Amino acid sequence: MSTDFALAARLDDLRREYDDLKARGLTLDLTRGKPSAEQLDLSEPLLALPGEGQHTAEDGTDTRNYGGLSGLLELRRIFAELLDVPVGQLLAQGNASLTLMYDTIVQALLFGVPGSDRPWSREEQVTFLCPVPGYDRHFAICEELGIRMVTVPMTPDGPDAEAVAALVAEDASIRGLWVVPTYANPDGAVVSETVARRLVSMPTAAPDFRIFWDNAYVVHHLTDVETPSVNAVALASDAGNPDRVFLYASTSKITFAGAGVAFFAASPANIDWYQAHLGIRSIGPDKVNQLRHAMFFRNADGVRAHMRRHREILAPKFSAVGEILTRRLSEAGVASWTEPLGGYFVSVDVVPGTASRVVQLAKDAGIALTPAGSTFPYHRDPQDRNIRLAPSMPPLDEVRAAMDGVATCILLAAAEAAAAITPSPA
Ligand code: PMP
Repeated sequence: MSTDFALAARLDDLRREYDDLKARGLTLDLTRGKPSAEQLDLSEPLLALPGEGQHTAEDGTDTRNYGGLSGLLELRRIFAELLDVPVGQLLAQGNASLTLMYDTIVQALLFGVPGSDRPWSREEQVTFLCPVPGYDRHFAICEELGIRMVTVPMTPDGPDAEAVAALVAEDASIRGLWVVPTYANPDGAVVSETVARRLVSMPTAAPDFRIFWDNAYVVHHLTDVETPSVNAVALASDAGNPDRVFLYASTSKITFAGAGVAFFAASPANIDWYQAHLGIRSIGPDKVNQLRHAMFFRNADGVRAHMRRHREILAPKFSAVGEILTRRLSEAGVASWTEPLGGYFVSVDVVPGTASRVVQLAKDAGIALTPAGSTFPYHRDPQDRNIRLAPSMPPLDEVRAAMDGVATCILLAAAEAAAAITPSPA
């Protein structure tokens, strides 16, 4: 019996199972990678810091006042160690690295970057390469700013470097490449040193090509394997392309997602360029928040220890996702999924043509999933196959209930598709 035939034969049973699921009246949400309240509680002491009378930075700066555009040195030192960049090449800014990404791209459009012949907005076309599946908010920035997106495949070692190299060598409109180097959103891939070396050294037709190296999950391990990130800024410099990398990170999923600190690192020329425009836009970042973060962590080991506490909360949720998908789906062979060693997401590939149906079925059963297509530019997954799961926010029992429901939806959508292509017995 073919798999399709076996699945199609289960259609009635799966419909009954799905009706039972709907009858449970669930309200569950796996849409976005937010930290849970329990995780946010780990950083609760921040709310009492720096404390009345504690407003002086180690260099004597009164953090309450204007100034200090680069951010507080004591906090930059901690994150320079974690990100493996020289502290002089690292800025600490506001609460969102996404804002830094948006701002650097807007600045590039308005003014050009070091090495540009003219502002990017004066080019006939600006193109970014987008590894897929990828992060929807990266794609949203490009879409809003009129940047053409061209997809390249992800591999377990990061973006397909040969595909990228071939495109950037030929097409001078390609100005950017999105990379989430550590525990990528959504597939958990980690960029290997080989891939990183290729990306920072490949010849590019554009003189001012940049890699947007979004290291959002640099210390967000889910196992004992604390995978180190490749140091792209240093590798680019060694390769003779010191200005190629813009690196971003933040404490959004370390302390408070809405009240953390974001970081930007790059070559000295890039940092000078960014700061020159930043100095017009701002008189200085929120140094009080930076001081409280520096006091809370004390040093890089403080951050590492804090992340192990996050891991204790998160790892069981990710294990539950893997365990339930394996139990419910492996025999039917209707999906494949990632088992990430860090980060916030599980990427599931279902039967081609059924991802939107799965998300709709789940929605109708009270389980909110990230819309199908979100992991692709313009929300268009050409195979309608990829679904991003974000299990961090709900409590463990809800993650379990949601995953069991999602598995039912995946099976039902696969059976419906199989029934449509399997002629019924005469
Ligand atoms: N980059 C990636 C890859 C992310 O997954 C996220 C959050 N989902 C962000 C950036 C957002 O970071 P921030 O809160 O610092 O803006």
